Amino acid sequence: MPPDSASTLLRKQTLPAHIVVREVGLRDGLQSIDRIVSTSDKIQLLQSLYAAGLRHIEIGSFVPTRLLPQMADTAKLMEAAYRLEGLETSVLVPNLRGAQTALQTNARYLMVPLSASHAHSFANLRKTPDEVVAEVGRIRAERDSRGSTMLIDGGVGTAFGCTLQGHVAVSEVVRLTQGLLDAGADRISLADTVGYADPASVREVFEAVLRVAGDRLWCGHFHDTRGLGLANVLVAMELGVHRFDTCFAGIGGCPHAPNSGGNIATDDLVFMLESMGIDTGVDVHALLEQRKLAATILDGEVLRGAFWRAGVPITFSPPARASAGGAL
Ligand code: ZN
Repeated sequence: MPPDSASTLLRKQTLPAHIVVREVGLRDGLQSIDRIVSTSDKIQLLQSLYAAGLRHIEIGSFVPTRLLPQMADTAKLMEAAYRLEGLETSVLVPNLRGAQTALQTNARYLMVPLSASHAHSFANLRKTPDEVVAEVGRIRAERDSRGSTMLIDGGVGTAFGCTLQGHVAVSEVVRLTQGLLDAGADRISLADTVGYADPASVREVFEAVLRVAGDRLWCGHFHDTRGLGLANVLVAMELGVHRFDTCFAGIGGCPHAPNSGGNIATDDLVFMLESMGIDTGVDVHALLEQRKLAATILDGEVLRGAFWRAGVPITFSPPARASAGGAL
């Protein structure tokens, strides 16, 4: 028997051939940095991410400029993104008003954040989670009345605990997921906004939400605050989730979580997946170049991640790419 047959079999049984890495640095990352990056620098970052192979990119958010001046040029950035062929874009909107702006763009979908933690919800959105669910109902009605096919993604944050409230009950995450689906959300994402998740809690929460959402649970958003980001991805991936959020250079965080660290660094996750033989469509060498550009533009900011320090192993060989336009 060839020595690798057992592990090869196991891999085929449990892991997908392709994973979508969705880059959210332009939104989640840049909104958590005080400085306002110029539109031309953002376009350079966007183009470098696209050149590395990323085809799912969150462009920004439609929030009041006085609250988040870093995101004031989202509409301009959307225009630049539209020129990149095959790019699937998303934008974050906190309410109907933001959704009305988003619906005038070519975004593939809009993401509405909801905090399962009531304390975080008040601090971040000044609404209860159930008020956010009701707003999603109004956004769905608005979308349908315009005949738009833009997808609505309900992003359930603080799903694994909260720095303000502490524990967040799994039953509450499930209840709010059901509420979002009933209100008209097409997709659900689960987010570890403050970096409290571990592989056991990821299994527990994702299994519970999968029971009500099925394949409409499509994305995991983990932070690497305590070094568990990649382990958490692995568990969710084994449960059948095929899409994960990351930030270039590991930027991002949460204003309500001191030292919350960043999102998983895009190059860390792409390297792990490609090293495991899972196609992401993204070139790790190009990501290392992208990181240099990010370090120049964000000079003085804290950048995170591990892969870039030692770079590509000499034994590394990327998996075969899915055919052009290949789906999951
Ligand atoms: Zn995040």
